[in-house]
Amino acid sequence: MSETLFQVTHTKIQSFQRCRKQYWFSYVSGLDWPPSRDTPAAIVGKGVHRAMRRLCETDHPEDAEHELDAYLRMPKHHEAAPGTEYHRLAFEILANGIAAHESIVSEDRYAELSTWVPSRSRGITIRAMIDRADRLDPDHWLIIDWKTGRYDLDEIVDAQLDVGHLALRTSRMLPAGTRVTAIGWNLRSGHQRVRELNRDDARKTVDYIANFAARMQATSEFPATPGPHCTFCDWRDRCDEAISLERTELTWLDDDWERAAEPF
Ligand code: SF4
Repeated sequence: MSETLFQVTHTKIQSFQRCRKQYWFSYVSGLDWPPSRDTPAAIVGKGVHRAMRRLCETDHPEDAEHELDAYLRMPKHHEAAPGTEYHRLAFEILANGIAAHESIVSEDRYAELSTWVPSRSRGITIRAMIDRADRLDPDHWLIIDWKTGRYDLDEIVDAQLDVGHLALRTSRMLPAGTRVTAIGWNLRSGHQRVRELNRDDARKTVDYIANFAARMQATSEFPATPGPHCTFCDWRDRCDEAISLERTELTWLDDDWERAAEPF
């Protein structure tokens, strides 16, 4: 991979859109990243994703259940330990995931595709990943991004699926005529967000990301945009604007705002 290509990820774009100061902290400042906040919701989400990966790999639900059980029994995950509400919730979500897995009939499948998609003509390389990919027939693939929260923001799910589509097309080198059904599948609510994507969509996704990357690279001002997302920002302890807003006891951290920012 060329050193000169500007690296772009879905998370990086989201950070720039959400709060330029958070983007600056994470991608411009050169500061070491603080440890990420292990909320109970994040523990449940990560544990279920690991279990779903095992299930996709072996097709044996007991492998998935053991992976989740061992993960939630780790001391650092005590907030979702056996006997807690979050432990019960994690296994409920996994049961839905096992049913979802068993409903998919495919010729072959891959767990957690992850790759870089370089575009030298546009000066960028995109980190693309997707939780699962299935070949339904030689001309039709399915990709899935598992969701485990109470709410999903449609626009963000669509953007994730578009990037996941790039991961599949690049890593499997799909012919132009191959179509891809992309699903953001919420294992808690059962809701499925479905997109039908082709190679032209992939090209336009790269065009959009390249245009957005040009804007990120040209930006020299990084003002803070405090809001509900600060609750889960890893840089919050170093952010004067967020600390000062907390001290004035504004109401943007009330329950409704918190639910919008964090789906548990
Ligand atoms: S704490 Fe809030 S305002 Fe500060 S960098 Fe993070 S998201 Fe931005």
